[in-house]
Amino acid sequence: MTPLAEHIGQLIRSGETVSLERFMALALGDPQYGYYMTRDPFGVEGDFTTAPEISQMFGELLGLWAAEVWALMGSPTQIHLIEFGPGRGTLMSDALRALQVAGNFAQALNVHLIETSPYLEAQQRETLAETPFKIEWHTSLDSVPEGPSIYFANEFFDALPIRHFVRYNEEWFEKVIGLEEDGSFYFGLDALPEPDIKAQAPEGTVLEIGAVAHRLMAALARRLLKHPGAALVIDYGHVETDFGETLQALQDHRAVDPLAEPGEADLTAHVDFAALARTAKAVGATVSGPVRQADFLSRLGIFERAAGLKRQATPRQAIEVDRALLRLVSTANEPGAGGAMAPGMGALFKVLAVTSPTLPPPPGFQEK
Ligand code: SAH
Repeated sequence: MTPLAEHIGQLIRSGETVSLERFMALALGDPQYGYYMTRDPFGVEGDFTTAPEISQMFGELLGLWAAEVWALMGSPTQIHLIEFGPGRGTLMSDALRALQVAGNFAQALNVHLIETSPYLEAQQRETLAETPFKIEWHTSLDSVPEGPSIYFANEFFDALPIRHFVRYNEEWFEKVIGLEEDGSFYFGLDALPEPDIKAQAPEGTVLEIGAVAHRLMAALARRLLKHPGAALVIDYGHVETDFGETLQALQDHRAVDPLAEPGEADLTAHVDFAALARTAKAVGATVSGPVRQADFLSRLGIFERAAGLKRQATPRQAIEVDRALLRLVSTANEPGAGGAMAPGMGALFKVLAVTSPTLPPPPGFQEK
């Protein structure tokens, strides 16, 4: 049993209600035993690989995207470039290298990284040690100064805790974690139904709600109303809201039981882009997309960038460039985590931009 499982078991024994949301928050973010607090989960050795870890092209294109958005904003003399959940810091490192071609943008730049894991913050400091830019670290958006801003969030929203409600006796009950005699966990239902959900559905239907994600999106949208800016959200998820649940646990690139070893597996859920877009619009921000990652990256010029890299590459490096390119933009079905067939990253991942109402749609969202 993991130390975190002991801890959660004690909470339940002492009579506390541990919702799925709380379980997920502890499993990922418990200061001592949380999944992200204790390890580097990325890459071949880790549990999963993200787009910036696949290729430098990803971060480079995002850096150039930011430079274009800054120009659309009227080239303010000060701009905050903010990244949520920067992982190893690879995306920001590639972005900052690429955007130096836009000299005036580079001069206006203040960089902020929002990261809760001290372990990953240390990695980010190492990755970014050589960059000429001054970088500030934060543990939440609250301490990031306001002003003209561009935000990146790649594979961040999927790590925010979710709530599940189950239709039972024509009411909605929140899923909570129960404790077996042997210390293992099971999914149970809260004693009282949730009166505020009005949706109708057949018995047993699950409703998944990213309440933490929505609060964050609302806060971002409010900032975008006060000052010009844009937020780019890239993640796997769906473009239509629907019933059903998408919680998954990954360990060593394999799907595992989400309740089995809290703190040892990465827990994620698909991002409900339609719901996030509704939240942003309700506050008054403008939404572009979501579009498929494949379309977004090809409109930003990933094929041209790959060709450029290959011109300076050895034959072996050129093969690597092509392989990375294919992984980022492939939309064909292929075996995914756990062996099940799933669309390639290019189709599974979507890109959503949320912008100030004063800005035109940013690059990458219109057909050429
Ligand atoms: N963007 C990176 C890493 C994605 S993994 C990449 O694409 O490679 C999720 C990241 O978000 C990790 O850095 C994790 O520590 C961080 N994180 C998770 N929950 C967070 C929260 N509530 N606030 C800030 N960072 C968080």
